[in-house]
Amino acid sequence: MKFVGAHVSASGGVFNAPINAHNIGAKGFALFTKNQRQWKAKPLENSVIDKFHQNMEKFGFKPESVLPHDSYLINLGHPEDEGRTKSLNAFIDEVERCKLLGLDRLNFHPGSHLKKISEEESLNLVVDSLNRTLDQTSGVSLVIENTAGQGSNLGYRLEHLAHIIDGVEDKSRIGVCIDTCHFFSSGYDIRTEESYEKSMSEFDRVVGFKYLMGMHINDSKAKLGSRVDRHHSLGEGELGLETFKMIMRDPRIDNIPLILETIDDSIWREEIELLLSFEN
Ligand SMILES: [Zn+2]
Ligand SMILES: [Zn+2]
Repeated sequence: MKFVGAHVSASGGVFNAPINAHNIGAKGFALFTKNQRQWKAKPLENSVIDKFHQNMEKFGFKPESVLPHDSYLINLGHPEDEGRTKSLNAFIDEVERCKLLGLDRLNFHPGSHLKKISEEESLNLVVDSLNRTLDQTSGVSLVIENTAGQGSNLGYRLEHLAHIIDGVEDKSRIGVCIDTCHFFSSGYDIRTEESYEKSMSEFDRVVGFKYLMGMHINDSKAKLGSRVDRHHSLGEGELGLETFKMIMRDPRIDNIPLILETIDDSIWREEIELLLSFEN
């Protein structure tokens, strides 16, 4: 079973996300539990939490089929104390919101060094931020996403993800999310059976499938190794449909959310149907 879905809107309240997911035939979904472009959010009210639980139940979504995404403002590897502390506090708040919603994982981007410190120094700051978060929270796994490596973003090499996992003390609460567009544009080819197997074995060797807790399913407008982050609709970009067939038939990728962040949300229902038709 693969929990195929999309990053749906939670506007009007987080309880709308499971409804929006159900309406496009999704088996899983991603959401922001607060406005992703603001630092502060008012706490989740009990009535909102109750409605979220009711809709999860009503439409048959289990926590393992949901991949919440944190705010884009957060940078856990920020070179300056002030920026990093602000990020850490906001991140801990996001973990607590997930816990209140009964969700078991939170997807985040590793961070960026802003060209002020080295990649390794910034990665070590990410590790420190994660260890502090894990100390102060419970019940939610922290799911690191690979990136395209645009600008000074960390996470475009599998070794970056491995370095972070290596430094985290409680490895039972750490996971990774592979975004197919980012994977490809950061230089990992997955277009043919041979290149797919090579890149996925490398993922298994460097990081390990046991850490895979979600995927973002996107085609890419940008070329292999371009380190440019431009999503495209499935089959419209550089990857092509063959990649998504191989993913849907890969038993190493079972029982996790597979989330569309493709550019045309009016065709998400068709894209989900297409993916599910590839499954066997
Ligand atoms: Zn993504
Ligand atoms: Zn992206």
